[in-house]
Amino acid sequence: MGEFICETCGTQFAGSAVPPGHCPICVDERQYVGWGGQAWTTHGRLQSRYRLRIEEDDGLLAFGVPAGFAIPQRALLLPTDAGNILWESVSLVTDEALRAIKARGGATRIVISHPHFYASMVEWSEALGGVPILLHAADRAWVQRPSPRIEFWEGDTHRLSGSVELIRCGGHFPGSTALHWKNGPRPGGALFSGDALQVVQDRRHVSFMYSYPNFIPLPPGEVRGMRGRLVGVDFEDVYGYSWGLNIIGGGRAAVNDSFERYLRAVAS
Ligand SMILES: [Zn+2]
Ligand SMILES: [Zn+2]
Repeated sequence: MGEFICETCGTQFAGSAVPPGHCPICVDERQYVGWGGQAWTTHGRLQSRYRLRIEEDDGLLAFGVPAGFAIPQRALLLPTDAGNILWESVSLVTDEALRAIKARGGATRIVISHPHFYASMVEWSEALGGVPILLHAADRAWVQRPSPRIEFWEGDTHRLSGSVELIRCGGHFPGSTALHWKNGPRPGGALFSGDALQVVQDRRHVSFMYSYPNFIPLPPGEVRGMRGRLVGVDFEDVYGYSWGLNIIGGGRAAVNDSFERYLRAVAS
């Protein structure tokens, strides 16, 4: 009996005697099955294979499995007035990471943008003392390891404190969520956009894809809907999904320009 982890997307599944027949997240057209066919590992095997990368990413403590395993997202610890939030999840939990979080006062909850980053979320929750995991209800069907720690929220916004609000962006997944931190980590605030709005390589723009690995753009209507849900949301910085993929300074203007640029490109 083990909780198998998909090697290509990094998602941990509910315990089973033999590995699942396939990974629904990788079979979906937003992802892909590894070129060598479906492969599985376990948390124990990851612990002996990798050391978690623990570093600051533009001023925030960050955790990521080293390049070469699954999707290279990193999780961030956000010290907010809603407590320390672990934003996103990765496939591996280590004692070193738990010590680093504990040294900063622990974490009160885990919030995840969308199913590609669910990873080993239940493993993380239990290791942090059974903290709640907040997911958008629209993506409920993608949860592969159910747990009483998971709390689903509904609607377009969910306020966690005076300065922290979750915003359903939709698009990439119906429940794709961004976290808005009004006055942190720097005074102008930041949007943590997962890949609903993906910070691109020039780090001055974002883009909007249904599938990033398979290059399937989002229809203009979806992107206009996202733009509407972000009206009145101000921020200086945009934190993308992976290490260093952030827009530091001028983030709101960069997002506005990116909406215009994208809609010009696809809606002519
Ligand atoms: Zn997978
Ligand atoms: Zn994704």
